[in-house]
Amino acid sequence: MNTPQALQLNPENSFSISSSCPAFYSPSSIEELANIAKAMDKPFYVLGAGTNTLFVNNVTPAIIHPNFHGIEVKDCGDRVLVSGQSAENWHEFVQFCLNRGYYGIENLALIPGSIGAAPVQNIGAYGVELADVLDSVSWFEFSSQTLRHFTNEQCHFGYRDSIFKHALFGKGIIVSVTLSLSKTWQPKLSYQGLAQLGADASAEQVFNQVVQLRQSKLPDPKELPNAGSFFKNPVVDEDVFNTLQQSYPDMPYYPQRNHQVKLAAGWLIDQCGLKGYRQGNVGVHQHQALVLVNYGQASGRELYQLAQYVQQQVKQKFAICLEPEVRLLDSAGLIHLTEVNN
Ligand SMILES: Cc1cc2nc3c(=O)[nH]c(=O)nc-3n(C[C@H](O)[C@H](O)[C@H](O)COP(=O)(O)OP(=O)(O)OC[C@H]3O[C@@H](n4cnc5c(N)ncnc54)[C@H](O)[C@@H]3O)c2cc1C
Repeated sequence: MNTPQALQLNPENSFSISSSCPAFYSPSSIEELANIAKAMDKPFYVLGAGTNTLFVNNVTPAIIHPNFHGIEVKDCGDRVLVSGQSAENWHEFVQFCLNRGYYGIENLALIPGSIGAAPVQNIGAYGVELADVLDSVSWFEFSSQTLRHFTNEQCHFGYRDSIFKHALFGKGIIVSVTLSLSKTWQPKLSYQGLAQLGADASAEQVFNQVVQLRQSKLPDPKELPNAGSFFKNPVVDEDVFNTLQQSYPDMPYYPQRNHQVKLAAGWLIDQCGLKGYRQGNVGVHQHQALVLVNYGQASGRELYQLAQYVQQQVKQKFAICLEPEVRLLDSAGLIHLTEVNN
């Protein structure tokens, strides 16, 4: 087993928060992982690239940072099964597939982070989510020290959700992810900004357009530390939506199954006058109300408090409670965003 090191974590998270962990393990083989599992007697957190995690405290639990690398391809006629080990970079994986003519994930270009984290919140963008192409996940279970395989159905995917956030959270590590991709190109252009490409757009054109749109809309964490969308888009019952729509006829919305409607969290925050709002070292991005940013030397606590304030303002105006998409980690493990009462 590699020796655990105490570590300063600010290069390990896209919010660039200074936090330290008592022990940092970076296994690169199943054998190493099994040895860590045997010795682990305290809570731990699995950290990929740290682009969806806020270190709320200046100390975290022990960190396990998978270091499994490699991509394998299995030809299955008109489809291919492409497996990526968990430490591979998601965007480079998308490029790898595109270059070889394996199609289905172009719309997910430029999402930061590791392959291992992608199934955890079922990453999605521009009308596609991981669940659309996922074949299976290999997951190492700490208690049995065995590798288990989960089919797409067994992952219980939902909107920014999966079994890895619930029943399996804290019990193991995703080691690799296998996608089923097509050798036949079929563009998915339903999303605003892509339709203009036209039905004969090539995979490279869609990929480039997604990259360009994302670069023009979202702040680069290297220049302005952030974790993308801080909150999930709330899904409400139709009757709640109908009442709100009477007061806000211009409110954007996306009908869902089961008489539910998804609202745009960024729009709700913007309507509270919070776009560009700043509290000392932290703020709501001036163009993207859904993105909270660290302007410099912010602590995780300051970002947490800003998130509470945003949540409170939206609740007061719309009676809707925004839930964070970002994982909030303190010294003992994940925490919730608690509501501030007036
Ligand atoms: C600028 C920006 C834009 C973004 N845009 C999008 C977007 O369009 N769509 C989208 O869905 N997300 C988006 N995100 C969020 C982020 O990119 C994804 O959530 C990504 O999958 C996180 O990967 P990570 O390796 O950094 O995860 P981390 O932050 O390291 O971890 C996230 C969660 O996954 C768990 N985890 C990580 N690796 C493993 C593993 N191997 N096994 C088990 N659990 C694991 C962690 O414990 C944690 O709960 C964006 C983020 C940024 C900074």
